[in-house]
Amino acid sequence: MPKKTIQSVDVAGKRVLIRVDFNVPMEGSSITDDRRIQAALPTIRSVIDRGGKAILMSHLGRPEGTGHEAAYTLKPVAERLSEILGKPVAFPGQEPGDGATAAAVEQMSDGDVLLMENLRFAKGEKKGDAEFAERLASMGDAYCNDAFGTCHRADASMVALPRAMQGKPRAVGFLVEREIKFLSETLANPAHPFTVVLGGAKVSDKLPAIEHLLPKADSILVGGAMAYTFLAALGKSVGDSRVEKDHIPGAQRIIDQAANAHTDLHLPQDHVACTQFNASGDIEVFEETIPSGFMGLDIGPKTQTAYANVIRGSKTIVWNGPMGVFEMPPYRIGTQQVAQAIAEATDAGAVSIVGGGDSAAAVEKFGLADRMSHVSTGGGASLEMLEGKAFEALSQIDNA
Ligand code: AMP
Repeated sequence: MPKKTIQSVDVAGKRVLIRVDFNVPMEGSSITDDRRIQAALPTIRSVIDRGGKAILMSHLGRPEGTGHEAAYTLKPVAERLSEILGKPVAFPGQEPGDGATAAAVEQMSDGDVLLMENLRFAKGEKKGDAEFAERLASMGDAYCNDAFGTCHRADASMVALPRAMQGKPRAVGFLVEREIKFLSETLANPAHPFTVVLGGAKVSDKLPAIEHLLPKADSILVGGAMAYTFLAALGKSVGDSRVEKDHIPGAQRIIDQAANAHTDLHLPQDHVACTQFNASGDIEVFEETIPSGFMGLDIGPKTQTAYANVIRGSKTIVWNGPMGVFEMPPYRIGTQQVAQAIAEATDAGAVSIVGGGDSAAAVEKFGLADRMSHVSTGGGASLEMLEGKAFEALSQIDNA
């Protein structure tokens, strides 16, 4: 069932509590990347342009939860937002929901914007506390969740707050609407051939997503360190590559499920390996097996070509996790080739969905983000959605 969106809420004259994700990277008091602020603008503008009062709430970093901490104040975010919007952004109080915040909310006129202090200064936020949520709820006539990166969490502003606002409009913002559309709705009914590309460091993190997507997928392409646990399950020697021994049975189960479901499970057939986990040891390409003394750090050239061919023939592609240690130039090529092939498939009409975290960072680095259908803004939330998990935060939102 699609969720109510902010667009369909009559916000004129209303106090709209908007949970955003302003957890921006900071160096001291400077914001080093304001994309998360930019990403929330369509929702904020939609509310103020229609005469609503936008009351913004976010967390930033990991304060103790015992009151105001200067190192985690959202003040620089309020200032940047004010610059971008070209209008004042009220930033009252020492803690979210305190008396000064309530007084400032009372004074808001239609079209005004206010940002509360860091939600995690209140100890009730991480605890999902109902009393804290009630205090916030008393300040709003409507609720909007546009914080996708936090949607898998049960923090008070995500779950207890919309629960406390039952009977008032509760909607998702444009960002969350788009994430659900791609990560949930598109993948529930993908155009075929449907290819799932998974990589990254830990197979244990990705097994639930593979299991969920496998019955629908035509091909699964595995790269990154996680491939070595699969190869170990097949009895191949992988040298000193990273293997999660405890998860060899899980990898074996996936191999069996893929065979039963007639899903092509592709594993690397060659490897770029090194004697050390860095770029300065001896680097060699090995086919099939990796001798001891070497660890696999990227998919090899044959695998790159094979994976790119499968991707180019796909109509839906979902990708989560790099194919190698892409942070180091000698082990970047596998990830780059996969990203390039996904961009070409998208140009040719495929739908491509890139999970957040490292794969999103990789497509940004390669200058390919704009050629993807969707690059998720959530790391953990995006992976959990690929696992098919239902989010309590979203179940509190009204249906459309
Ligand atoms: P994840 O957060 O699980 O998606 O993992 C991303 C990390 O996996 C990146 O920092 C990569 O450097 C790392 N990674 C990818 N391939 C390998 C590999 N073959 N060996 C060790 N680490 C890897």
